[in-house]
Amino acid sequence: MLLYGDKDKQNSIEMIAKRIEKCEKCPLYLTRTNTVPGSGNVESPIMFVGEGPGADEDAMGEPFVGRAGQLLEKMLQEKAKIERKDVFITNIVKCRPPQNRVPTEEEVKSCQSYLDAQIIVIQPKIIVTLGNTPLNYFTGENKITQSRGRFFDWYGEIKIFPTFHPSYLLRNQSQKNGSPRWFAYLDMTVIGLMYRKLKKGDKISEVAKTIEKRIKSIEQSGGV
Ligand code: URA
Repeated sequence: MLLYGDKDKQNSIEMIAKRIEKCEKCPLYLTRTNTVPGSGNVESPIMFVGEGPGADEDAMGEPFVGRAGQLLEKMLQEKAKIERKDVFITNIVKCRPPQNRVPTEEEVKSCQSYLDAQIIVIQPKIIVTLGNTPLNYFTGENKITQSRGRFFDWYGEIKIFPTFHPSYLLRNQSQKNGSPRWFAYLDMTVIGLMYRKLKKGDKISEVAKTIEKRIKSIEQSGGV
């Protein structure tokens, strides 16, 4: 039996991963090489959720290890000043959709219990959603450009903080003020601030208020 909320979070996360490994709830199991349950620090106050594994992730069984993952890691290091291993990273679906297509509603629903279980075990204060698929899953919104840099309430005390998917940033290299990269760097900078505040024990409601003000003033002044 899974003991969600058990002190031994790592054990519970590994048990969830074992269930995912055997999963045949949707047709994605037919074409996968490896399941990609997620990895990172189960004690982190911040969890990152992407869309679904690509070819590199399917080959290695690890999330965000391809080009998009390398960019995510670089932004975490250079903008947020945190290491990838400090946060937990996972996806909405745990098996690769063929040709990297967007997962279907059926696939997302089939995988939902695994993501729910991971969230219940890890109990993050903030879930950073990468791109439109997790944005829509958690908030019902569809437009990342309008939703990024804001907080959305999710069950209980968890806040959703949407930002751009790194694959989108790979296709949009401009760093001009107001470009997707410019906003993504701002988001990553404040994600680092939030991480340090939450680690110190600051309350999420206070952190969200301070950060929202900070984002507004940076956006208005035009500098990260
Ligand atoms: N894109 C995602 O959404 N997730 C990954 O793990 C890799 C690429």
